[in-house]
Amino acid sequence: MHRDPQSEAIAASNQWQQASLDTGNPNPRIDEIFAIDVFDMKKMRQRLPKGVYKSVESVLEGGRKLTLGDAEVIATAMKDWAIERGATHYTHWFQPMTGLTAEKHDSLTSLDGEGGVVYRLSGSSLIQGEPDASSFPSGGLRATFEARGYTAWDVTSPAFIIRGSNYATLCIPTAFVSWNGEALDKKTPLLRSIDAISTQALRVLKIFGTDEGVTSVGSTLGAEQEYFLVDRNLFYARPDLVSCDRTLFGSMPPKHQQLDDHYFGSIPSRVLSFMAEVERELACLGVPVQTRHNEVAPGQYEIAPLFETTNLACDHQAMMMQILKSVAGRFGFVAIMHEKPFAGVNGSGKHNNWSLSTDTGVNLLDPQDEAHNNLQFMTYLCAVIRAVHMNADLLRAAISSASNDHRLGANEAPPAIISIFLGDMLEDLIDQIAKGATSRTLKGGSLDLGARTLPELTRDSGDRNRTSPFAFIGNRFEFRAVGSSASVAWPNTIINTIVADSLDYIATQIEKSVKKNSTQAQTETAIRKVLQQVIKEHRDIVFNGDNYTEEWQAEAEKRGLPNLKTTADTLPVFKKRSVASMFKKYKVLTKPELESRAEIFAEQYATQIGIETHQMLSIARTQILPACLEYQRRVALTMTQTEAAGSDSSFLGSTLDLITERVHRLTQAIEQLKNHVGFRNLDPFDASFYIRDHVLDAMHELREASDDLERMVDHELWPLPAYSEMLTIR
Ligand code: ADP
Ligand code: MG
Repeated sequence: MHRDPQSEAIAASNQWQQASLDTGNPNPRIDEIFAIDVFDMKKMRQRLPKGVYKSVESVLEGGRKLTLGDAEVIATAMKDWAIERGATHYTHWFQPMTGLTAEKHDSLTSLDGEGGVVYRLSGSSLIQGEPDASSFPSGGLRATFEARGYTAWDVTSPAFIIRGSNYATLCIPTAFVSWNGEALDKKTPLLRSIDAISTQALRVLKIFGTDEGVTSVGSTLGAEQEYFLVDRNLFYARPDLVSCDRTLFGSMPPKHQQLDDHYFGSIPSRVLSFMAEVERELACLGVPVQTRHNEVAPGQYEIAPLFETTNLACDHQAMMMQILKSVAGRFGFVAIMHEKPFAGVNGSGKHNNWSLSTDTGVNLLDPQDEAHNNLQFMTYLCAVIRAVHMNADLLRAAISSASNDHRLGANEAPPAIISIFLGDMLEDLIDQIAKGATSRTLKGGSLDLGARTLPELTRDSGDRNRTSPFAFIGNRFEFRAVGSSASVAWPNTIINTIVADSLDYIATQIEKSVKKNSTQAQTETAIRKVLQQVIKEHRDIVFNGDNYTEEWQAEAEKRGLPNLKTTADTLPVFKKRSVASMFKKYKVLTKPELESRAEIFAEQYATQIGIETHQMLSIARTQILPACLEYQRRVALTMTQTEAAGSDSSFLGSTLDLITERVHRLTQAIEQLKNHVGFRNLDPFDASFYIRDHVLDAMHELREASDDLERMVDHELWPLPAYSEMLTIR
């Protein structure tokens, strides 16, 4: 049967516009449902004996490990709570190296031997699981014949319930390790990096004597998620979207984002209904959502949570992506998290807002009013500057993937060169630090809007810079180069580790130069000296200008900053000895664990491009070429028939020539790409270089050849939904 996805999409859209008029069912109050499906500390306090509750508290403070006895009591309380909330199954929920989340459900019920069933969750099944997980990528850490892997309960991230109309599953966040304890997931190294940064940040607090009552310092994270929504009918009519999450072909419509009329525009009602449902589900799961809006490209949106401690924020981020995908289906959409689903319009990122905070709630990267007197702030700031400068290549590598390569450096997202934007106030401050004394903090002043009825606005001391990959914004850094489909656990593992390393360095330098009986003034002088040195050595990473310009590319090269353009260029960074020894020093990753990750990233890259080339060839040969040949035949036929009827058909000759020429180009491009697909048999690292040097160009050429034809071939014959449909029907 012939399907017409466009008409189906419009019909679905109409139906949703109609449905959103029905306001009969008021939304629940957020405060009444918030965290209703989370087994958090509040519920533990209500349900656990005091002693056991205290043990959980002391585990959270890093004081001790959980005993099996305590686990038994907690498991029973958790199970009782879960079955009251309708759960029938539980799962250890983990984040393997696929970058996705994994779950294997076990029933909470077992037979009681007397013809009935009982609900059970033992302490040992709460704290340890053994999924048959031999098919997850391990990068050589284990062979399939020694496939044992364990999941271990992460007490710091509360269990939660994922539900649908006829199911509810208790999810227990866990770390995933191999038989000999090597990390096979994204969470284990993250937790280790959180310990590392806490230790080093505390040392600095001690130097300033501001550590009273502080037991730990953690990083905080708020990850803004950009995504596209496409009607399901159109999505499933595009094999490239289905298998690669991005369009491998497609020519731009005349109007897309040029007028900036979508950005921050009023949110279409079907989309808003979808967002509200996502937010309701996330609220039940205790994920605090703060903002929602239209993004730059048509069909593109953003959701941003309220920041939390990094481990929790990473789990919540993974849950957010899961919920976006599952709820989208109910509204007739597919949510696309890929960094560049549509060529020619903006791609999606995941702005990673990162800061450092004590467990007593003090943000250590908040300069406060008189930053020049705030030596403690300057110390943490200098640590970040040093960390980013010394590890610019590693940070770039942390966010590289086949999909993010399409976005970085495309004049809409930060370039592949990592630099820091500080803004006028902080740049002025570090210049003072470099001179040895700080005596002023630039102020933004106020803005008079000219109309008597409008309020006077306070102005920030510097503007924002949307082109910088790593920007200071008021009281935190925003790592803007992170891709929208990525797990944020890995980039944050790296930020935590490199900043821990720099805090360690700075603390050590200061401790060396401060004597036991130093006066406060002497201590301050010693600290200023260390910071002065750090700024002198690392100021080159700071760039406040426009990151999109060619001048910056040249300037960055002069400064010796790495410019790693593709994933293939970044993979060798993980093999650097200095990187391995840093991860080892802070006990974040052993050498084999790091090597396995490099292996996995290379393999994922080559596999992804392998799928894309395969899919491209298949669409080109079986859908696009036949449509073009048919059009060519029709034009030729029209010519001969016109001539047979005695009319002049020569004006059609140029059309036929043009289409023939373009079809010829298409067939050549198909052949050319076909000649390169042998990379699939290479070792993944070699494959990545081969892809960079040959395959990407061949893919580009095939796409161009096809897109040119799309602009000329009869629309009725074109076998794929057009950009104009996918980006606008909602
Ligand atoms: P914008 O798009 O203008 O950058 P948003 O409001 O969309 O701003 O997102 C800002 C994000 O930064 C939010 O997720 C917010 O919770 C987060 N954030 C704010 N303060 C901190 C902090 N101290 N640490 C980490 N993230 C923070
Ligand atoms: Mg932001």
